[in-house]
Amino acid sequence: MSTPATDRVELKRGTNRAEYGHEEMLAVLDAGKVAHMGADTDHGIIVLPMAYGRTDTEILLHGSAANAMLRAGGGTDVCVTVTIIDGLVIARSAFHNSMNYRSVVIRGEARLITEPEEKTEALKIITDHVAVNWDSRREATEKELKATMVIGVPLTEMSAKIRNDGAVDDDADLGGPEWAGHIPLTEVWGEPVPNDDVADGCVLPPETLAGVTQ
Ligand SMILES: Cc1cc2nc3c(=O)[nH]c(=O)nc-3n(C[C@H](O)[C@H](O)[C@H](O)COP(=O)(O)OP(=O)(O)OC[C@H]3O[C@@H](n4cnc5c(N)ncnc54)[C@H](O)[C@@H]3O)c2cc1C
Repeated sequence: MSTPATDRVELKRGTNRAEYGHEEMLAVLDAGKVAHMGADTDHGIIVLPMAYGRTDTEILLHGSAANAMLRAGGGTDVCVTVTIIDGLVIARSAFHNSMNYRSVVIRGEARLITEPEEKTEALKIITDHVAVNWDSRREATEKELKATMVIGVPLTEMSAKIRNDGAVDDDADLGGPEWAGHIPLTEVWGEPVPNDDVADGCVLPPETLAGVTQ
């Protein structure tokens, strides 16, 4: 469990589900595929889903150089969350219905990553977090790199919340006529489907396949 880095990432509700251990929080980031980033833009606050990757010290996000949220986020306080749903919790009262989940909230100042070598490495990390394939793809062109914006948010001010049990009902409802419990959710990747225009002899790299079948 450990302790929160700052007050603003300290869980006030559901404190029994708090997790501040750095390795435990990184494990949630490693298990997820989609982050939601929130930033305050000229047109108001927006939260957008995005792919991500991480180093030991930052979560990395990328998008079009024209992306208003990423542009606004650079140098400002942002919030990035990663959520994994592990199941549905059905309680005796709808009030206590819930989900089992692992989620991480990261708060802090985003920095634009513009130095070409660092930017390319960040793009590799993001690409390989989603599906390991950077090294087997054709190299990014200068035009593509220019069209892409990359930001990093420090992994210092963050919290995780993990729920992994059954329904928590009011004592008065226990033994009532309603079913109570949880329904686990397991995600399974399907068989890869090649495009019709794939050249003869091309195969999905084993490291990509391994990443989605482990
Ligand atoms: C899949 C999913 C579905 C949810 N559905 C609902 C819902 O329908 N209604 C609802 O009220 N809540 C829901 N929650 C829980 C919600 O994310 C909040 O934890 C909860 O609402 C308490 O909010 P708060 O502002 O009172 O938290 P506080 O405890 O006051 O938040 C303080 C700090 O705790 C940390 N924190 C809070 N929540 C989380 C979190 N989920 N993960 C990591 N760190 C966190 C943050 O750093 C935050 O700044 C859901 C969570 C998940 C993952």
